[in-house]
Amino acid sequence: MKPNNNDKNNLQNTLDDVLINKMHSKAAFVLLLLLYAATTAAIRMIALGGANTYLMLIGRSVPIGGFTGILSNLANICLVTLVVFFGKIGFVTALGLLLMQFSMIFLEMVTQHSTTYLPGVFGNALTILAIIIIYLKSAKVNEYQTRMREQAVTDRLTGLPNRFACSELLNELIRIGERFALVHIDINGFKSINSSMGYEAGNKVLIEIAHRWKDIADTGVSGTSDFITRVSGDEYVLIIRGYNSDEAIRKTISHYESALGKRLTIDNCDFFITASFGYAEYPSDASTADSLFSYADTAIHEVKRLKNSNHILRFTPDLLKIERTIEIEGKIRDALENDTISFRLQPQFDMSHKLRGFEALARMRDSDGNIIAPSEFIPVAEKVGLIDKVDSAVFRKAAMFFGGLCKKTDTKLMLSVNASVRHLMKNDFLNEVRWILSTSGLPPQQLEIEITESIMIDSAEKAFQCITEIRDMGVQIAIDDFGTGYSSLSYLNNFPANLLKIDKSFIDKMNSGDSSKQYVAAIISIGHIMGFDVISEGVEDPDQLETLKDIGCDLIQGFIWGRPLHKKDAEQLVMENLNS
Ligand code: C2E
Ligand code: MG
Ligand code: MG
Repeated sequence: MKPNNNDKNNLQNTLDDVLINKMHSKAAFVLLLLLYAATTAAIRMIALGGANTYLMLIGRSVPIGGFTGILSNLANICLVTLVVFFGKIGFVTALGLLLMQFSMIFLEMVTQHSTTYLPGVFGNALTILAIIIIYLKSAKVNEYQTRMREQAVTDRLTGLPNRFACSELLNELIRIGERFALVHIDINGFKSINSSMGYEAGNKVLIEIAHRWKDIADTGVSGTSDFITRVSGDEYVLIIRGYNSDEAIRKTISHYESALGKRLTIDNCDFFITASFGYAEYPSDASTADSLFSYADTAIHEVKRLKNSNHILRFTPDLLKIERTIEIEGKIRDALENDTISFRLQPQFDMSHKLRGFEALARMRDSDGNIIAPSEFIPVAEKVGLIDKVDSAVFRKAAMFFGGLCKKTDTKLMLSVNASVRHLMKNDFLNEVRWILSTSGLPPQQLEIEITESIMIDSAEKAFQCITEIRDMGVQIAIDDFGTGYSSLSYLNNFPANLLKIDKSFIDKMNSGDSSKQYVAAIISIGHIMGFDVISEGVEDPDQLETLKDIGCDLIQGFIWGRPLHKKDAEQLVMENLNS
């Protein structure tokens, strides 16, 4: 299929249509003619009034120089501009005007038998020759430029406008603020066509699809103004304008989808082609071309992920979350496979600022070295069932490091590790704890496992049994993020834990009012009544610290006395603690 300049889908025609360029050019054309008429009229008036001038139309016969000379040049410039900027129409108009002048001067010369008209006749003939040369020259340049531009905006294989043409139109629509939908289209399973039938057949399929879609766009059967482009490989982008509802967009897309339904035979082989369509709308979904592309792309990924019979999907912000979840899941899998999950150690202190131990906190970087926050990847790991593997990696690495440090320094400090419900509920969890204790050399009484209240709600009996066995090994148990779950006090009363960790959210609010402070004081009292030590998490400022001292908190973990540290910094802190 060859690109055709007359097609409605041609970029320039569409841009003209969008920009109403033709209106502007018409106005410029008329303006030039008016200017020309005004200058020639002025020359004539000067000629009529002057003693030594001649009664001529254009001023070819008035003396060169002076004001009439300037006006005469201006008239010529108008004609040349018409030829240069308005192609054939400009040329024909200018030539017509010049021939008219020529015949009038010639007639005057003949009827008045005067040779004084000769310079005018000669000048006119020269101008005619000049505009013919200019026209022929600029027609050639224009033709060449048009061809180059056509090539730059045309996809060679299918003859459709290409990615560049698509961006050009998008930018123009955004510039003038016209509403439109950008539909990203991906041919399903195209790779297998290429690999089973060869690239040539694959190309024929792409050409045939382009042909069918171009027909729809050119004939306007969809009821909207469509612009179909091929942006790469088996990916097309459709720009839809002139609709009045989301339903209308879908209806238009359905036309393109149905066109694939008709049998497609290449080299005597029947292909049954389907495609996925993801779309986003300007300006309601996004305001830049890049975001529209990326949102339509997000929608298309979701269509492919869902694998159901609906192949058309509009972008919604929720899709970004799904997309990010999938992306993070991939990064967690990579990190687990390459064993790159690491940990930091956040110090815990008693109220006299004496080091109690450290909590191991998971850290993860993606392959580009960017840090992904635990608040982002831990919930994803929980959701996709990878959290037990993350827990194990942190547990193993932190225990090995800390066990080594204990041997080296004979320190009696604690190491706390977080255990998710999924991890704790695994049948071999106890074996894992035993194995890690024996290989790391970490004494059981220096290991603390942090569990959350949710375990008491989700799997009460089994959890209780497991935790009792852990305690029997001599390992300590802490209840993390206390106050954010819904555990009953009676259950907590019997719970074999040592430490209650008050969640940061309570500490944040603690000094904002009397009742908030009393709330924290009550948690500390209850913890003490039940026989637990109480640690406050997320302590950041001195006021919080003072209040916690006043209401009898036992331990502190927070930025005020220590952020999560690298291994070597934690080791240095341990050394300083030994020497003090
Ligand atoms: P968490 O177990 O309650 O850990 C305490 C979190 O509070 C840590 O965040 C710590 O950096 C942060 N924190 C401590 N003091 C302050 C403070 O003064 N100000 C502020 N703004 N933050 C403070 P991090 O490391 O981002 O971890 C977040 C959560 O991710 C942890 O909360 C824990 O629930 C989870 N997590 C981290 N590592 C693991 C792990 O290995 N396994 C499991 N299952 N969860 C983990
Ligand atoms: Mg914790
Ligand atoms: Mg916590």
